[in-house]
Amino acid sequence: MELESMTALELAKKIKQRQVSVLDGVKSVFARIEKREDRVHAYLDTYRKEAYTRARQVEKGIADGTYTGPLAGVPIAVKDNICIKGKTTTCASRILENFVPQYNAEVVDRLEKAGMIVIGKTNMDEFAMGSTTETSAFGVTRNPWDPGHVPGGSSGGSCAAVAAEEAFLALGSDTGGSIRQPSSFCGVTGLKPTYGTVSRYGLVAYASSLDQIGPIGKNTADCAALLEVIAGHDPKDSTSIKREDLDFSASMTGKIVGMKFGVPTEYLAAGLNPEVKDAFMEALKILTQMGAIVEFFSMKTTEYMIPAYYIIASAEASSNLERFDGVKYGYRATDYEGLHDMYRRTRTQGFGEEVKRRIMLGSFVLSSGYYDAYYLKALRTKALIKREFDQAFEKYDVILAPAAPYTAPELGKSLQDPLAMYLGDIYTVAVNLCGLPGISVPCGKDESGLPIGIQMIGDCFQEKKILRAAGAFEKGRGDFGTAKMGGDRG
Ligand code: GLN
Repeated sequence: MELESMTALELAKKIKQRQVSVLDGVKSVFARIEKREDRVHAYLDTYRKEAYTRARQVEKGIADGTYTGPLAGVPIAVKDNICIKGKTTTCASRILENFVPQYNAEVVDRLEKAGMIVIGKTNMDEFAMGSTTETSAFGVTRNPWDPGHVPGGSSGGSCAAVAAEEAFLALGSDTGGSIRQPSSFCGVTGLKPTYGTVSRYGLVAYASSLDQIGPIGKNTADCAALLEVIAGHDPKDSTSIKREDLDFSASMTGKIVGMKFGVPTEYLAAGLNPEVKDAFMEALKILTQMGAIVEFFSMKTTEYMIPAYYIIASAEASSNLERFDGVKYGYRATDYEGLHDMYRRTRTQGFGEEVKRRIMLGSFVLSSGYYDAYYLKALRTKALIKREFDQAFEKYDVILAPAAPYTAPELGKSLQDPLAMYLGDIYTVAVNLCGLPGISVPCGKDESGLPIGIQMIGDCFQEKKILRAAGAFEKGRGDFGTAKMGGDRG
């Protein structure tokens, strides 16, 4: 097997046994980047030279016992809304095109302590707003399974990098599905942790009450191992939680006999593509054959999930994005008359259309005449949705859903109709509104060979249950295969 086709844990094991060097692993991903990146455009920036230098340090660190963890020596890609000291962090926006943070995000410090090697920053929807990675100000990312299609979003660059084997692992962020949906479209595995499990310090905020950073990998075991690296209390993030049960890998016993899974019937209604539905039903069959109990139940708040999410997310976004005013940092318009004109021109030129739409929507729902009618109502709706999930988790260990109602759309087809695009988030947003953990695992392919993912949702702090279920499902499913991109360079 070629090095870059190994999982992260396999590579780390080979490194530990000294069958390959850390530098070999790093070189292998850069060779792959060289071959494929012109067609994928997963990255906004790569750090080849630094990665080589760091590989030599890590090699020594492993030998002298500084780095003992299971992912030591593994190259990783980081979404470009996560700060790395001294490295441009753009959020795929013109307004931050030249922004260089003075500090590392907490997760980046943790990657370093684990002996991992950051190899670059990945493309994304501007400020993580979008579902296709097409709202990036720096060009689209293509789906490695079919370059005529989007990789999903907003963590499309991270998922495409892993799918194209241009990275062994990646970090994404998920506010309303941005890890799970692109993982599903790219045939990789992605986990959104319980809110507060991973520090948001150094993650550029989109909607602070919903944002979580999470792992994206080739399989469940790699995601569990990376979650162990990044999870943990951080006093720098006031919403960070003190948790003891962070030994996620230990939960992957492969046993799901007697485990209870619930499927909301509303999720299978109109709007779900029949091929996705078939693959999803097939996955339920596999789980049942493995001894799990699968039942259907009604989730009455389903139709309110999208409106509640888009009101709350836009409201928080409009407030969070106030800071990009051309004064403190980021882009400033060059031609202006007076302060207000400077603000106006800076923001007009610096933000893309989708971001402006969210800012306007958010400012509207928060304005004094409409606050009660929209924002407050959305918060109340969120409480009702949470109550329904609480009731469901009294009966079920895990809730199952497709990750998205369809497979990866063709490039250029989604942005003309933003409302239709928002509806595509139907299965993912409630997880963020309720702070729950969710994972997407590949479960099938459509007629043209594009991947389909099944989503497993757990109650708060039950990552172990969804990892156990996902790991077992993976075994039952068998090998999923990888994106065979024809025409590699060299
Ligand atoms: N597609 C959703 C949105 O545009 C989710 C994005 C995300 O999770 N960052 O808001």
